[in-house]
Amino acid sequence: MCNHQNITARVLSVPSAKAPFEKSTIERRDLRSDDILMDIRYCGICHSDIHNAHDDWGHGVFPMVPGHEIAGVVTAVGSDVTKFAVGDRVGVGCFVNSCGECEYCLRGDEQFCTKGVVLVFNAVDYDGNLTYGGYSQKMVVKEKFVVRIPDSLDLDVASPLLCAGITTYSPLKYWNVGPGKKVAVVGMGGLGHLAVQFAHTMGAEVTVLSQTMNKKNEALDFGADHYYATSDSATFTELAGQFDLILNTVSANLDVDAYLSLLRVDGTLVNVGAPAKPDEYNVFSLIMGRRSIAGSNVGGIQETQEMLDFAAEHGIAPMIEVISADQVDEAYERVLRSDVRYRFVIDMSTL
Ligand code: NAP
Ligand code: ZN
Repeated sequence: MCNHQNITARVLSVPSAKAPFEKSTIERRDLRSDDILMDIRYCGICHSDIHNAHDDWGHGVFPMVPGHEIAGVVTAVGSDVTKFAVGDRVGVGCFVNSCGECEYCLRGDEQFCTKGVVLVFNAVDYDGNLTYGGYSQKMVVKEKFVVRIPDSLDLDVASPLLCAGITTYSPLKYWNVGPGKKVAVVGMGGLGHLAVQFAHTMGAEVTVLSQTMNKKNEALDFGADHYYATSDSATFTELAGQFDLILNTVSANLDVDAYLSLLRVDGTLVNVGAPAKPDEYNVFSLIMGRRSIAGSNVGGIQETQEMLDFAAEHGIAPMIEVISADQVDEAYERVLRSDVRYRFVIDMSTL
């Protein structure tokens, strides 16, 4: 007897690097005992989707189905699933498998799994199959990599939290952002506008460093205390030596020395933005102030749940523009022009 379930999903896929999106279908795997099947309702567009679809980082496998800010509803569960039931509102973020046994998995940092965390798209899972992401109407995922979306968050608004939310929440927590700390957020796009809300709610004094003055009013609405344009060189003189932490969310290379000069002694520049080319800096920018440069990669599953609950409790929400499946190419162009306020979210019912 054949138990094949034929889970066919409509998807938006990129046939080759930088090509326009096409509508097609893929087969999702049959449900294993610890899998859930979900109907994807919304998927956010993260700049990492664009880096991948454009093959900026150089290991793209095509055709590719991007998408890692995935929100939807459970429609079936495997026989051993205990956390979720049909009808539950759930989210999936950047990764869908890890070894579960290494030091980092055991402490909830699956993103640093020593066997290699399996990303939700453009990756090879441990069974040898390629992963396809959330620009899709259905998905099969191990329940361990699924989080619950709090009732007070609409699914479209919640979706960007699954990457942009956790990527900014996690380093702010790790570097103990709170009252008495001065934090600068560089770049106010999808990640940046959430970083401002989280850092403000955690009690820090928050400064936004944006290319222009255009986003000032919205930055103050998100909770920023100060706002400066980095196109004005006076910004770097005025703010010299001020910050405990700078969170860099910019998708392009920056003048790292200029930003290091804004740190206090012992301050840290944390990079979450991931440009394709290496950054350069003068080591004296670190030595002369015992400063550090660091990086951070999304966050673990338990921490993602904690972040969603924190956002729900404190009224933190992405500002989104919901688009149809036909508008994704145009949305990519707009993100590249920094013309997004502040996250595009695809309505999957239009696919
Ligand atoms: P986004 O919405 O495009 O935001 C990036 C912002 O950076 C822009 O809105 C703009 O802000 C600023 N910016 C863009 N180009 C710039 C330039 N040439 N010079 C200076 N500033 C510039 O992108 P996102 O989705 O937030 O993602 C940001 C970066 O984080 C991407 O590289 C992405 O791949 C990476 N990422 C990393 C992780 C991780 O785990 N580490 C997770 C998700 C995303 P202003 O208009 O305010 O200047
Ligand atoms: Zn992302």
